[in-house]
Amino acid sequence: MTVWQQPFVKSVLWAAALLILASCNAPTDRLELHFIDVGQGDAVLIRSPSGQNVLYDGGRATDEVLGYLESVGVTSLELVIASHADADHIGGLEAVVRRYRPRLFLDNGLPHDTQTYRGLLGAVRDAGSQLVQPTARRIGLGEASLQVIPPPSDPGLSSNDHSVGLIVSYGEFRAALTGDAETPEFGWWLANVPELLGPVQVYKAAHHGSPNGDSAESMSTFDPETVIISVGQDNAYGHPSAEALALYKDAGATVYRTDESGTVRVLAAASGAHEVESASPTAPHDLESGRPAFGNADRDCSDFRTRAEAQAFFEAAGAGDPNRLDGDGDGAVCTSLP
Ligand SMILES: [Zn+2]
Repeated sequence: MTVWQQPFVKSVLWAAALLILASCNAPTDRLELHFIDVGQGDAVLIRSPSGQNVLYDGGRATDEVLGYLESVGVTSLELVIASHADADHIGGLEAVVRRYRPRLFLDNGLPHDTQTYRGLLGAVRDAGSQLVQPTARRIGLGEASLQVIPPPSDPGLSSNDHSVGLIVSYGEFRAALTGDAETPEFGWWLANVPELLGPVQVYKAAHHGSPNGDSAESMSTFDPETVIISVGQDNAYGHPSAEALALYKDAGATVYRTDESGTVRVLAAASGAHEVESASPTAPHDLESGRPAFGNADRDCSDFRTRAEAQAFFEAAGAGDPNRLDGDGDGAVCTSLP
């Protein structure tokens, strides 16, 4: 008799196998990007089809991103990247590094004298993470890969203009993360590493949609289909700026904002196709407050410009149809709209 014929042993082995699969983040056929809602700041979780996890920035709050990673079942981190050392990008990284002890850590390598940065470096040292230089290197993640866009070596440029950029690739799919890069850094990239840049499907708005982040040049370089702006409600900087929003609109991109939609998740296939999971793109706004109108009662079809907008509102509102947008109950709302 072999062990396989003993039902108890067999069920224990199966349970153990399932546990191992679950804790290794079982392979899938899609790449995931989670633009985590951290208020005014950046934090992007990259989950490769082969189950590796990478975190690019960690927001300002000390344990918000850690809580998010745990909530979506992340059990290990291959790599943590700090685009640059501003607190709205690295504030949450120390807790993440202490919890997950990532195998690799990459930042822009510039000295930075803040308590937050010193705490992060202490955590990286304690975790024994291998330090990776921010050169134009490619980091494999199974079938996906990361291309580092190196920061300039120009001490005359600002902290934002030393952001480590990243191109995430999976088959035909590309996404670009450019930290808080502003016009001078884009100029440096175009002059020095143009071969690393090019069209992407998904683009994280530079510097939270600041007026000195993206330009007509960055938009023609990356030519995105989807732009995600990681930005806090009522932030003191006025992000995103009208100029940046006009650039994304002129580029023909669909825009998602974490201040309106919360965390935005992108699911990408090797074909280059991608889906976005969020409350809604370009959500209808309450005219008085300027805030998204989710949750407001008393909306009717005349409050929406298009059927798609009304449909997104209806689906984001969740169960029921308190606004009675779907008169005939077939799931398609405001069919009289264009
Ligand atoms: Zn920032």
